[in-house]
Amino acid sequence: MSTASQLVLAGRRSSECFSRARALIPGGVDSPVRSAAAVGCEPAFIASGHGAYLWDVDGRRYIDYVGAYGPSILGHSHPLVVESVQAAAAYGLSFGAPTDAESDLAEMLIAAFPALELVRFVSSGTEATMSALRLARAATGRDMVLKFEGCYHGHADALLVKAGSGALTYNTPDSAGVTAAATADTLVAPYNDLEAVHALFVEHGKRIAAVIVEPVAGNMGVVLPRPGFLHGLRELTRVQGSLLVFDEVMTGFRLCYGGVQTLVGIEPDLVCLGKIIGGGLPLAAYGGRRDLMELVAPTGPVYQAGTLSGNPLAVAAGLATLRLLRRENVYRELEAKTTALAVGLRERAAKNGLPVRVNSIGAMFSVFFSDSAVVDYATSSSSDIVRFSAFYQAMRKAGVHLPPSPFEAVFVSLAHSAQDVDDTLSAAERAFAQL
Ligand SMILES: *Cc1c(COP(=O)(O)O)cnc(C)c1O
Repeated sequence: MSTASQLVLAGRRSSECFSRARALIPGGVDSPVRSAAAVGCEPAFIASGHGAYLWDVDGRRYIDYVGAYGPSILGHSHPLVVESVQAAAAYGLSFGAPTDAESDLAEMLIAAFPALELVRFVSSGTEATMSALRLARAATGRDMVLKFEGCYHGHADALLVKAGSGALTYNTPDSAGVTAAATADTLVAPYNDLEAVHALFVEHGKRIAAVIVEPVAGNMGVVLPRPGFLHGLRELTRVQGSLLVFDEVMTGFRLCYGGVQTLVGIEPDLVCLGKIIGGGLPLAAYGGRRDLMELVAPTGPVYQAGTLSGNPLAVAAGLATLRLLRRENVYRELEAKTTALAVGLRERAAKNGLPVRVNSIGAMFSVFFSDSAVVDYATSSSSDIVRFSAFYQAMRKAGVHLPPSPFEAVFVSLAHSAQDVDDTLSAAERAFAQL
C-alpha cells in the first residue's frame, strides 16, 4: 500500500516520530506487526501506559487491547509490579550469577504446571521453543519436528515454516534467509487435524522427535482446539515415542492460573512459557520432566545459555505479576469481561448483518470477518482482511487500540473496567454501522 493512500490516523507528533524511526530502524519498528501497515495505518507512538489505557505522543488516550502482545494481563504499569522492579533495580541490574529470586519464580511455575519438574529461564519465547526442540531432539535421538499451520513459535529458523497449501509435505521456509536445510526436518499439519498428524506419523514416526503445538492457538487469531485434538496428540506422541511440547508462551496464565494443560488435564513432556511470566520485562522459560531437563547444560550435553537469562528485574516483575494473578476470582473476572465483549461484538455485528466470527476463551479473543467458523489456518487466512482493516481504523479513531491484524489475539486485562467494555462495544457498534 502506498504511503499516500494510507489513512494516517496518527497525530502529528506520532507521524514525526514514525518518519524519524523509519530513517533509523527497518520500517520504524522493532517487531513487524507494530507498524500497522497490514491495516493501512501508521502506528501510534506511545508515551505512557497506565491500567487499561495507553497515551500516544499526541496526547490521545486509547483503551488498549494489545496488552504488549500478551504480558499486560494486569493492565499497564501495575503499581505493585513497578514497585517490585524498582526495588530490585536498587540492588543491581544483572549479575551473571544466580539469585534466590529465580528459585522463587521457578517454584511458582512448577507449582502451577504439573508437567514442570525443572524449569530453565531464558529471555524470549523464541529462545524457549528453540531450546525445547533442541532438547527434544537430543532426548529422542531423532531429527524431525512436527508443527501446525498458523502456529507461531518464535522466529527460530526451523520453526519459520510457511503454512503451505495444506499439503502434508516438507515445508518451505517462510522467511528469506532461512535455508531449505534449516526447515527440511520440519513437518507441518493443519491445526485441529488429528488425521493429518496420524498420517505423518505413519510416514515418519520413528524420525519425529517432537510435536510442538499452541494448545489454544493465538497467532492465527484465536483458534480453539477441537475436543479430542490435544488428547489425541498426547496419545499419538506417547505411542510413537515422540515428545509433546506445549508452547504456552501466550496461553500460560492467560486462561487460568496455569496453562491450557491445567484446563484439559494433559501433561506434555515439555512446556514453553513467556509473556505473562515476565510481567512486561524480557523473560521466558522452558521446562518439563526432570530426566529430560537434566540433559541441559551444565548437567547434560544440550548446550543452552544466556547473558541476561533470569534477569533480576524481569524475575521481580514476573513474581509480582504471578502473585497478583494467584488471588481468588481473578480468572472468573477476566473471563466475564471477555465474554461480555465477545457476546456484545457478535450481537452488534449481527444487527448490522455483518458476517463476524468471534472466537474467545479466558482473557483472549479474535474478531474475524468470515462467513464460516474459524477452526484452522485455512479458515483464518480466508477471513476478510480489508473489512478488518476498516474495522481497526474505525476503532482506532474511536480511541480503541486493537492489534493491527486479525491474526493477533485481542487481550483483555484486569484493568479493563465495565465502563471500558461498554465504551468498546459502543465504538464497535458505530464501526460496524460504517462497514
Ligand atoms: C509470542 C510467542 C512466541 C515468541 O515469543 P517472543 O518472546 O516474541 O520470542 C512463541 N510462541 C508463542 C505461542 C507466542 O505467542
